[in-house]
Amino acid sequence: MSRHLQPAHHRLYQISTATALVEGIYQGAVRVGALRKHGDHGLGTFEGLDGEMVVVDGHFFQARSDGSVHECGDDVLSPFAVITRFSPEETIALAQCPDLAHLTSAFDALRPTENFFFALKVKGRFDYIKTRAMCRTAEGVPLVKAAAVQPEFEMRDVPGTLVGFWTPEYAKALNVPGYHLHFVSDDHRSGGHLLQCRGANLRLQIQREGDYHVALPETEDFLIADLNRDPSADLAKAEGERK
Ligand code: ZN
Repeated sequence: MSRHLQPAHHRLYQISTATALVEGIYQGAVRVGALRKHGDHGLGTFEGLDGEMVVVDGHFFQARSDGSVHECGDDVLSPFAVITRFSPEETIALAQCPDLAHLTSAFDALRPTENFFFALKVKGRFDYIKTRAMCRTAEGVPLVKAAAVQPEFEMRDVPGTLVGFWTPEYAKALNVPGYHLHFVSDDHRSGGHLLQCRGANLRLQIQREGDYHVALPETEDFLIADLNRDPSADLAKAEGERK
């Protein structure tokens, strides 16, 4: 059996589920200090949907709706996060990246399967980056409603890092299916959930995640929530670029 599990599987650790987030389950379930034990690369949000979590090289950043970014202490709470220890198996250079679709198709070419999770990282100088950051939202307000008023930010000629994941379609009740990337600039002054990007000479890295661990929140709101609705339509609306 163990022979068939070689090479050693990278482990993806997640707190809560995408459906719970869609249903407005925003109570803090885990502290950043606890998340650190599970990896150095990832994304998520904060208690009360207070901005976007970006985890780069072991540093946890909070990108807020006022445009500010700061590094988090261990006591900060999160209702939803996805994290892994990043030691990429493959690195490629992307000479030209006219838009996000181009970037995701470059990653498509690096994925040998639709059935594993993948951790992703992109480093470089971006000609253009568009992000958004969730506003602090009352418990129980559905994500799609919260997302309708989220502020967006545009940056030009900014060096930085994209971190995130590709999630299989079959896992859509648990995580955001397809590509999900967050950005933080090298000076740690801007960032958020990625909506669009453009750049050249980018370095793309990918790691296959064969071990998927979901920790369920023991918060009051999670225990009583109805999590049986299909979150796909709401997720696509809340996570994508506004048309
Ligand atoms: Zn996001």
